[in-house]
Amino acid sequence: MNRGEIDGLFCPICIEAWSTEGEHKMCCLPCGHIYGLSCIKKWLRQRRSNGKCPQCNRRSTLKDIRVLYAARLCAVDDRLHKQVRALKAKCDSLEKKNTDYCNKEVRFLEREADLCRKLQMLTEEKKSLERLLEDRQRESQGSSQDYQRRMIKDIGSGSQSCSGIFKQQGEFRVDGGRFFDIDASGQLIIVARRLNGMGGMNLLTKISLVAPNEREDIQLPENTKAVRALCVKPDTRLALLASLGKKLSVVRKQHHCSYL
Ligand SMILES: [Zn+2]
Ligand SMILES: [Zn+2]
Repeated sequence: MNRGEIDGLFCPICIEAWSTEGEHKMCCLPCGHIYGLSCIKKWLRQRRSNGKCPQCNRRSTLKDIRVLYAARLCAVDDRLHKQVRALKAKCDSLEKKNTDYCNKEVRFLEREADLCRKLQMLTEEKKSLERLLEDRQRESQGSSQDYQRRMIKDIGSGSQSCSGIFKQQGEFRVDGGRFFDIDASGQLIIVARRLNGMGGMNLLTKISLVAPNEREDIQLPENTKAVRALCVKPDTRLALLASLGKKLSVVRKQHHCSYL
């Protein structure tokens, strides 16, 4: 046991508890140090004590001893008191924080529920827009197929329905077109074009009458001059073209390459 542990609980001379009655009852010297009565008497009678308090060496005699009439001594530790007060303040502050967090949590839960509702609404709106888009796509596909069916029908019955009156079936844009020819099936047009924006490049463009947006550009040999006339063989891989410089060329398309 160290001094702090026995201080105020045991007689510092014999390290025994002091009593309220009898020889070892509680007593003190004028310096304030407390002992069991028999122990301090014995100590002061000894020569080597020189009549001094064993703890602080203040001079004392047997007459100075005062009996303490108390059942037990209990002193409040001020440091502990301060600690308790600090802990209580901390506890109060934590309780307040906890209340704040609880309130915040309630608000967050309400906000989360609100956002969930909004998300659901937006999801439904998205589905409805997707359905609308699908309907529109179906409609536009339908009208494009109608056009193709009409063209195929008209092309197929072209020779019989020759009433002498032309009716417009459709129109589409062709940039830089100079001359054109149509293949034997009557479903493909080959247009000789000159592109202004690309250094006056000459090329042939294959356009499907059934689906006018399906086009294929066919590059002509580099030295080809401006085309003045065009004639296409039925399989569309051979074309006869007259170009400036009094030249008549036969071009054949093979895969993506052109040959004379
Ligand atoms: Zn003692
Ligand atoms: Zn003392």
